[in-house]
Amino acid sequence: MVSRVIPVDPFDLVIFGGTGDLARRKILPALFRRYCAGQWPEDVRIIGAARSEHDDSAYRALVADALREFAPERAKDSPSVDGFLARVSYVRIDAEEQAGWAELAGQLTEDRVRAFYFSVGPRLFGALAGQIEAHGMVTDRTRIVVEKPFGHDLQSARDLNATLAGHFDEGQIYRIDHYLGKETVQNLMAVRFGNMLFEPLWNSQYVDHIQITVAETVGIAGREGYYDRAGAMRDMMQNHLMQLLCLIAMEPPAKFDPDAVRDEKLKVIRALDQVQPHHIVRGQYGPSDGEPDYRGAVGNPRSATESYIALRAHISNWRWAGTPFYLRTGKRLVARSSVINVMFKDAPHSIFGADAGRHANVLSIRLQPNEGITLKVTIKEPGPGGMRLIDVPLDMSFAEALGPENQDPPDAYERLIMDVIRGNQTLFMRGDEVEAAWAWTDPIIAGWQARGDVPKPYDSGSTGPGDAELLMKRDGRHWQGIKP
Ligand code: NAP
Repeated sequence: MVSRVIPVDPFDLVIFGGTGDLARRKILPALFRRYCAGQWPEDVRIIGAARSEHDDSAYRALVADALREFAPERAKDSPSVDGFLARVSYVRIDAEEQAGWAELAGQLTEDRVRAFYFSVGPRLFGALAGQIEAHGMVTDRTRIVVEKPFGHDLQSARDLNATLAGHFDEGQIYRIDHYLGKETVQNLMAVRFGNMLFEPLWNSQYVDHIQITVAETVGIAGREGYYDRAGAMRDMMQNHLMQLLCLIAMEPPAKFDPDAVRDEKLKVIRALDQVQPHHIVRGQYGPSDGEPDYRGAVGNPRSATESYIALRAHISNWRWAGTPFYLRTGKRLVARSSVINVMFKDAPHSIFGADAGRHANVLSIRLQPNEGITLKVTIKEPGPGGMRLIDVPLDMSFAEALGPENQDPPDAYERLIMDVIRGNQTLFMRGDEVEAAWAWTDPIIAGWQARGDVPKPYDSGSTGPGDAELLMKRDGRHWQGIKP
């Protein structure tokens, strides 16, 4: 089965911060892969913009290097690289100065989609938005793309939303959370709402609890300053894990349309209870292989910022009352693994007697690596000697199930940027969602700051602090393993 490529209309895409890390690692390689897949028409234009001095050919050389480094499998084909570069140009612009804006406006084509990617720090969003409007670049087909962090707390998120709303309609603003662009995350919706099998069981009557784990092996190298101000709660929990929680817990939207989906997600966030202090575990990683511990990495021996957080959340609505959601994320853990485990209840009565043990179904949705879905079911252990039960996985690895042509599905940025061009906001966060997520997050952070809580140390290469195991054990539950 070969995945279909549906061509998009011609567009102009301006990348503010076109020389930066995100542009080089993610945005430009994603555009290049979509170009190689034949998704765009010939006359698309990509315009990099930043303060550094480059002419078009120097910028194309920078882009070519980025493609060789971050899209090496496709960049071997030099006609493709040349074809892509022919569509790339550069304008020198300082967001806070006047030079360059008229030149940029002059390069844009009338009557086509024009997307402005704000791949710069949020401090500059207001200046960029103001200049785009002042230079007459806002049309019905203008879209802007903004990256996390979308605020540091509720007030700053409100301020950012207000700044953008001063220049653009909400329907023109695309707030990226790249987790939402992952194939399996969308599959989560397909599995839930495309099958009769799961949805009737998707509630507190049948689901004992849900675990969401986003484990990373990397530390915070290269992002020390930002990370020590943010921590795992702001960097991961408030956005990525919250979005996964919303998709797993939301009611079926009436249709798969942007506002219908986002309305349902918003209801989940608003139904979240405040998290109790004893349901929160924070940790900081220790040293490993000559690498410093967290505090050494940030150069602050007294840092109280967490590189790990686990918490137990509750959603107060009819569907989920009584079913806890355990969420955890951390750096320098034993394996890189993002997975959602839906832990079903035991069958109400075992006809096989106490010796058969306790068995419950687990639906595991793996986001990375090796995207796929596994359903653990209970069967009879083969062979004579009575009825012994074992749990076996019904495993659907997407790469295997869908054939070799789908071994390399588009990455999240490829899908999301093409959605921007198509004008489909379903997989982007709406302003009120972001604010509701901060409204839930702020009191949690304020609580531990007021208590003076200090994160617990944990070994690099482990599954996190021991207290996170206790969080589960106290409830008679345990975390599923973190496997690569
Ligand atoms: P970066 O490497 O520091 O790049 C920043 C870019 O902005 C550079 O191209 C810089 O180029 C340009 N710039 C800075 N000041 C400017 C100004 N006054 N006017 C015009 N251009 C200006 O940062 P980054 O890692 O690419 O991150 C960009 C944004 O994405 C940040 O908000 C970050 O939090 C977010 N983000 C990044 C990642 C990632 O993986 N890197 C992931 C998620 C979100 P000049 O110095 O030449 O002007």
